[in-house]
Amino acid sequence: MLKTAQERSGGGQRPYIGFGKGGSPEETLAGLDVRIIACRHCPRLVAWREAVAQSKTRRFRDQEYWGKPIVGFGDFDARVVLVGLAPAAHGGNRTGRMFTGDESGNWLFRALYETGFANQPESIGRADGLRLKDCYITASVRCAPPQNKPTKEEFANCRPYLLEELSLLKNLRVVVGLGKIGFDAAASALKELGLIDYRKKPKFGHGIHLRFGKIHLLGTYHPSQQNTFTKKLTREMLRSVFRKARSTARRK
Ligand code: SF4
Repeated sequence: MLKTAQERSGGGQRPYIGFGKGGSPEETLAGLDVRIIACRHCPRLVAWREAVAQSKTRRFRDQEYWGKPIVGFGDFDARVVLVGLAPAAHGGNRTGRMFTGDESGNWLFRALYETGFANQPESIGRADGLRLKDCYITASVRCAPPQNKPTKEEFANCRPYLLEELSLLKNLRVVVGLGKIGFDAAASALKELGLIDYRKKPKFGHGIHLRFGKIHLLGTYHPSQQNTFTKKLTREMLRSVFRKARSTARRK
């Protein structure tokens, strides 16, 4: 039986409603997930994600790591879509769900909860009961990269998955880039899909809000520990971007 966007990442909520080439929307999304999870296109990332899953880290040594690419997570009817960089070695690569099980995710999901996009502030594993409402989370690269730095070639290899996923989110109105890399990936993907157009590449900044017809592009500093420890990004700054995303999505 085909699974919903949240069930395939460990939750359960809405049915797929997207459209793709050939087959029903459900088949298309289910097929996309199957292709992503089976993907071994980037030898360096495949080797890294699997090596980390084997060696683990001390505090999670008793857990079985996911060790595969990560699919998108959230409400498939979402108007608000977050685009991040890539899963963390001991976060998403361990738990099998975007941003789940690491400090960035703790910040992110707390802010989503406090702004009404999530049903709980915590995200510790795929069976933790987390549900997103009107929000979907994806990434520009699906495998954990060493030092969180994918190569240009790895970005290019993974890009078709982002394009296909965004094209299936038919209610999409507001895209929030998490960090410069997520923002740039979102902007170029939306342009390639014909959803927005620009001559000069949009410049990333925290709190930036650009409108392209009915599509809005927002940016926030990434909730990485580097940013949160140094207070470059505070909880209120992150909530403020999500509040703006919510009010913008509601606007006609
Ligand atoms: S990063 Fe993307 S393209 Fe590369 S192996 Fe992982 S899923 Fe495949």
